[in-house]
Amino acid sequence: MLRTIRTEEDARKAVARARKRGKRVGLVPTMGYLHDGHLALVREARKTCDYVVVSVFVNPRQFGPEEDFERYPRDLRRDKRLLAKEGCDLVFAPAAKDIYPRGFMTTVGVGGLRDIMCGRVREGHFDGVCLVVLKLINIIRPDVAFFGEKDYQQLVIIRRMVDDLSVGVDIVGVPTVRDKDGLALSSRNAYLDPEERRRATALFRSLELGRLLITGGERRAEEVRRRMVSALIEGGVDRIEYVAIVDPDTLEEVRHIRSDVRIAVAAWVGDTRLIDNVPVEVRARRRRRRVKGRTAAVIMAAGEGKRMKSGLPKVLHTMGGRPLVRWVVAAARQAGVGEIIAVTGHGGDMVRPVLERLGVETVVQDVQRGTGHAVLQAYPLLKGFSGDVLVLSGDVPLVRASTLRKLLSDHRRHSNAVTFATAVVPDATGYGRIVRARDGSFEEIVEEKDADAKTRRIKEINGGIYCFKAGTMFDALLMLTSGNAQMEYYLTDTLGIIRSRGGRVEAHLIDDYTEVLGVNTRKDLRTVAAVYARRRRDEDNKRGVANGVHRKRKR
Ligand code: AMP
Repeated sequence: MLRTIRTEEDARKAVARARKRGKRVGLVPTMGYLHDGHLALVREARKTCDYVVVSVFVNPRQFGPEEDFERYPRDLRRDKRLLAKEGCDLVFAPAAKDIYPRGFMTTVGVGGLRDIMCGRVREGHFDGVCLVVLKLINIIRPDVAFFGEKDYQQLVIIRRMVDDLSVGVDIVGVPTVRDKDGLALSSRNAYLDPEERRRATALFRSLELGRLLITGGERRAEEVRRRMVSALIEGGVDRIEYVAIVDPDTLEEVRHIRSDVRIAVAAWVGDTRLIDNVPVEVRARRRRRRVKGRTAAVIMAAGEGKRMKSGLPKVLHTMGGRPLVRWVVAAARQAGVGEIIAVTGHGGDMVRPVLERLGVETVVQDVQRGTGHAVLQAYPLLKGFSGDVLVLSGDVPLVRASTLRKLLSDHRRHSNAVTFATAVVPDATGYGRIVRARDGSFEEIVEEKDADAKTRRIKEINGGIYCFKAGTMFDALLMLTSGNAQMEYYLTDTLGIIRSRGGRVEAHLIDDYTEVLGVNTRKDLRTVAAVYARRRRDEDNKRGVANGVHRKRKR
């Protein structure tokens, strides 16, 4: 049963009783207005502690005089409801006069660390944080206290304080929880109107860019910073406070990136100040690879395939006795693609060995944020590549090498920025429809949900097979936003971006629609298997006829 306690004395008593019963106590300090990020801390606490205390206290000492203390969102009833569901044992929600009674004089501060990054602008903020955290720890006396990496500087400062003052509490950091489009959850997101909410993703997108640049071998922090600043501005933030590339333990600015770093940003969108950061692992620089040949392929193979109702990752289901993704790799190879990169995710541990045996390089999309985000993960391996990139799906197994070759040759002959395959299908339900101009040239793709009745009658659909100029593709991917109901980054949106920047986009109609059939369900799997069997029979017949003719002639 969840209990709510207001005073220090009651809190001490409740925790003492739990401790008497031999319980390991965990503390999660918060300012309330809880979201899934806070709840992740509670879940983490549940894993290792059997008595979990969550404090809810909007700490006046960590707000500057011009800051949002007054308007900071508060809703204790809602918070308690959420915490009860997570199996929290005690909510400690003290009043300010109990935490800071009359005559309170003490200050705590971690010099140096408090004056950089957020501390440059939020004077006194981290001293206020340290003070309240130390006080809460002294009241609750937990074995472990949990903090989010979302506030990375805070986490580092608290670790330092706890070490320096021998507080005797383990500090556990919990990775940042994000919305689908990558925006880090924060109580302050409640301030954003829908238009600002869209622009707010610029922080995450700039961090992604920074991470990909570093993973791709960029070692000059200043260059990474410069690119991130541009991305933040293009992404629509109103003011940048800082972009920092720092040592993850000391928060010292790094100039030349040699080992793991943390990249952090603070920026304003409207009247809201937002912060975010990500870790970047830096492996010893791999031998500088040259991409083989003038065509590369990126195969999307990260899908979970929930509707397959199976523990096997979707692309490992088989058609004609082979995993779906192997057919796609084979078609790409036969079409003359030198370098194949697969984006893995769900079931990656099972998918990667299969692909690596085929000589396919793999990258990881750790969270699914749409097709555009998936392809972007190949950036570190294709950085500087100036050829063409085929984008294929690991669950579209019937595509033929001859079709890819034709797509590529049209793409080059017409000097297109993008050429993508379309097909006329008997049933277009669920597909993006192709709208063409009077002269037959491609106009736009209209997704089904946005299509009016007339557009829905169109039977020519987007086949999801693309050929891009590499540089143009990545430039457009980095500009993608996620202004759709699913909050995902869609590859198809690059076509509009590329066209608006003067690139030629061509829709290439293929003859046999079965080549673009994708597998999402068991039924789809049976359909592609039947098409495959029919193709085999037709080929056998053709061969048979050829042999028959041959024999006849012989006679
Ligand atoms: P706050 O209520 O903002 O003071 O946050 C309370 C705790 O939750 C802090 O340790 C934060 O770092 C953590 N936190 C806030 N947002 C997130 C998030 N999106 N993911 C993980 N932890 C978070």
